Amino acid sequence: MSTGRYSTHDIEHYDRPRRRTRPRTKDRPTYDDAVRGVVVTVDRGRFTLLIEDRTVTAMKARPLGRKGVVVGDRVRVVGDVSGADGALARIVEVEERLTTLRRTADDDDPVERIIVANAEQMVIVTALADPEPQPRLLDRALVAAFDAGMQPLLCLTKADLADPAPLLSTYSSLGVPWVVTQRGGDLTELRERLAGRTSVLLGSSGVGKSTLVNALVPEAHRDVGSVNAVTGRGRHTSTSAYMLALPDGDGWIIDTPGIRSFGLAHVEPEHLIEAFPDLDEMTEECPRGCTHGSGEPECGLDEALAAGTADPERVSSFRRLLAARSESAY
Ligand code: ZN
Repeated sequence: MSTGRYSTHDIEHYDRPRRRTRPRTKDRPTYDDAVRGVVVTVDRGRFTLLIEDRTVTAMKARPLGRKGVVVGDRVRVVGDVSGADGALARIVEVEERLTTLRRTADDDDPVERIIVANAEQMVIVTALADPEPQPRLLDRALVAAFDAGMQPLLCLTKADLADPAPLLSTYSSLGVPWVVTQRGGDLTELRERLAGRTSVLLGSSGVGKSTLVNALVPEAHRDVGSVNAVTGRGRHTSTSAYMLALPDGDGWIIDTPGIRSFGLAHVEPEHLIEAFPDLDEMTEECPRGCTHGSGEPECGLDEALAAGTADPERVSSFRRLLAARSESAY
């Protein structure tokens, strides 16, 4: 039975690379005894990890230097991984990320940073009424999803209050998938969309995102409570995202309570258009530096429109997203 204590001896031991019989070309620790975990939340330099089914608190090991570790990261860990009260493990390696959700520096936060790693899908939660949908925020979230290489999913809540058709017509030409929910309604379709993958949920306050999270993961409150017990800190301090396992091991959701908007200045037009391969194909002959926005001289999109080979709705929707990139968030 582990007492959960970690000693100075352990730290010294783990910091030192193992002696090897053959010399390595690169002089770095191998950490053969490291175990794998996933970062479920971050709070002031302390990381809560899930290792198998244990909640483990960890810090970054010195060799990682200033490298960021964020929610969703798959990491390798040494030290006390028992998860016992007071135990502290150390993250020695961050595995290569499949996707990164980034935000540009803005007034609230002067540093550009990665906020979530390895999410495959972005669920943009918007109420159809009360509060009214904010198409500009929706567009900005879509730009962030496409830029990050994530599949977007519109989740339109409160369908008992308003018809989803007008809002959906704005997005149909972009081919963005959607689900509609209503208060107290059935979530089968949403569950199917979330199954087997990692999804990050975004949405302003009042749209019903917390209600969805609680319905999808009935133990969410208890889990978040135990995270608090581990870190000894409130969840609404500096925590801006946390990851929850869906029931039956069928995927993950990452909630983002602290994230209201994105700075998108880092998004390159060339990268954004790659999310629309049919349009991308039309821009091969564009002049160097063409952003493919309206008013660009000799843009391939305009030539395709003139030739009747491009869908005008789709081109104008793409250009609306492109413009959202450089508008301010509010
Ligand atoms: Zn162009």
